[in-house]
Amino acid sequence: MDLKPAFQEEFLLAMASLYRRVDVDIAGRQGVCIASGRCCRFEEYGHRLYVTQAELIYFYAVSLRPELDPAKNNSEAHTAVLPRTAGFPLPLYNGDGEFAPGCPWQVQGMCSARSGRPLGCRIYFCDSGSRGWQGPVYEYWHQQITDMHVEFDIGYSYLEWRNGLALLRRAEDQITDSAMVGGGPAAG
Ligand code: SF4
Repeated sequence: MDLKPAFQEEFLLAMASLYRRVDVDIAGRQGVCIASGRCCRFEEYGHRLYVTQAELIYFYAVSLRPELDPAKNNSEAHTAVLPRTAGFPLPLYNGDGEFAPGCPWQVQGMCSARSGRPLGCRIYFCDSGSRGWQGPVYEYWHQQITDMHVEFDIGYSYLEWRNGLALLRRAEDQITDSAMVGGGPAAG
């Protein structure tokens, strides 16, 4: 995975803007969240979260390298329930390339990575009243993110969340390794 877009402010601002529009859209649909945490315990509740490469790269910048986030001091910061978990290892990361069941960013039933969380996390509600609109709304915004891959020359892939995190971790290791020999991705 090429993490170069994570260092491009234009990409980060475009993704932040898109997610803001997603959040406004979803807020207007009034899905019911009872904070059960079940949306993030995939195995327990028999569902999976899939993400695109652009979402992973944005997540990397905002949740793992918050110093890259051009909006880190914006109004969204106060919505964080728990401190951001910056960098690996994560609470549920096993250290062997595998993640324990559920999302490693769920801490005490809450999301500790709200700013950078992927599209599926923003759209999914477990209440039955939300089932009718979720599919079409997801498809619409997923297409907007797909278009962003073209705009920012990012290879498109769509993969299971923990698999994506494992790829992200390997890509981060490469950055760290290249930085140690004086390389590292160019900013801008
Ligand atoms: S990123 Fe947050 S909302 Fe999404 S699955 Fe993980 S804990 Fe849940």
